[in-house]
This record gives sequence, structure tokens and C-alpha cells, in this order.
Amino acid sequence: MRRPAAAAYVRRMDLVEVLPQLHMFRFRIGQAYLWRDGADLTLIDAGDIESAAAIEDAILALGHDPARIRRIVVTHGHRDHYGAAQELADRHGAETLAHALDAPVIRGERPVPEPDLLDWERPLYAHGVTCPEAPPTRVDRELTGGEVLPFGDGTRVVHAPGHTPGSVALHLPRHGVLFTGDAVASVERVMLGVFNVDRAEATATFRRLTALGPRTVCCGHGDPLTEDAAAVMEAAANGR
Ligand SMILES: [Zn+2]
Ligand SMILES: [Zn+2]
Repeated sequence: MRRPAAAAYVRRMDLVEVLPQLHMFRFRIGQAYLWRDGADLTLIDAGDIESAAAIEDAILALGHDPARIRRIVVTHGHRDHYGAAQELADRHGAETLAHALDAPVIRGERPVPEPDLLDWERPLYAHGVTCPEAPPTRVDRELTGGEVLPFGDGTRVVHAPGHTPGSVALHLPRHGVLFTGDAVASVERVMLGVFNVDRAEATATFRRLTALGPRTVCCGHGDPLTEDAAAVMEAAANGR
């Protein structure tokens, strides 16, 4: 396995246990999650293009085998979420999955749709371009929402448009876990993710995700919600 300057990568990544079966990798920009069923591994997002070695090292440090990465579900077509997906998928024979509406962006066939920025988001957005470009990345399986994926005792794909047209959330009802991608952020407080292509749609998505009543919410940016997650989401949805 290739290991260029892995130590440098590890230094800029935190590894956080969310649940015994669930870990978060936090990178300089963005984060990704590892779900484990026995020895089989699923990645939810893959970090930016420089994250592959750090993810592999973190998996090894947890005592698991990166060769058991079965699939990488990309929550949406932003480069901080799928940059390392192709490299990891190629090396470990994993399937890559993303929504059909974002798949052309991930493959590099279409430009990233421009967000409808609020004034306070503009300086943040300008800063965000420090995330390195992602290479064109293959999508093996296009999702539309409603599919049940074979991990986490049946994971339901929830189409979660607004942040991007093809954003998805993943709901594991047996575990009360919800991966929101950038439909939800928990940076200082729980809120809509920033840089939304369609803010009204994003707001409606936030409410639909809240109605799922999750116990654990794993956001695209910021700390996971592990206590009173449904109530915290509900309060945020109602602007309290
Ligand atoms: Zn995003
Ligand atoms: Zn993001």
C-alpha cells in the first residue's frame, strides 16, 4: 500500500469515536465517517484529495483492515467530501455511490452549481477555496433516494436537496443514526449547512430530517449530536 508522508496527514486529522461501530475523521477542512458491520467497512464521504493515507492509517489504528472498505457513499458533489474517494475505491475495490443529480459534478462532467450566498457566508466561501481541487471521480452506483443499502442493518437513502440538488442523507433506523452531509452543520450551533444552492429547499430538507427523530446526528461539518439530537434539531428547525 502506498504511504506517502502518512505521518504528516495523520497529524492534521482527528479520530473521534461516536459509537462503538462509528468513528469520525476530522480533517483540516471537512470530515468523514466510518461505519463498521463486523469486519466490513463503509465510508460516508472521504475527505479531500489528500485524505486517503490518513483514512487508511486511522482504520489500521482502530484495528480494522482498509481492504474491507466495501463502499463509499458520497453525500454530495463538493470536493471536501469526495476528494479521496476514487483513490480509496481503486485501492480497496470499494463501490462508490452518490445521488444521480450530483454524480455528473463528481465525475467532472458538470461544474459545481453556484450557491446562493448570504452576506455572512461570502468571506467563508472565499476561504473555502483553499480546499484542493478533487479529480474527476467515478460513481459506480447512482442513487435517487429511498434505496436501502446493505450496511448498518439496512440504511435508507434520503434525498436531501438544497445544499446541492443531489445531496443525500443516510438514515440507520435500527441504530437511530442519521448522516446529514451538509444539509445540517453543527459548528458552534446546529443550523443549516452553509453555501446552499437553494435555501428554501434546504430548509424543507432540514425539517424532513428532523422528523426522522434521530438519536445520533453526524453532520458534514462540526461535532456529531449524541445527546437529545432530535430535540436539538427540532429547536433549530423552529429557530429557537
Ligand atoms: Zn457541501
Ligand atoms: Zn462540506
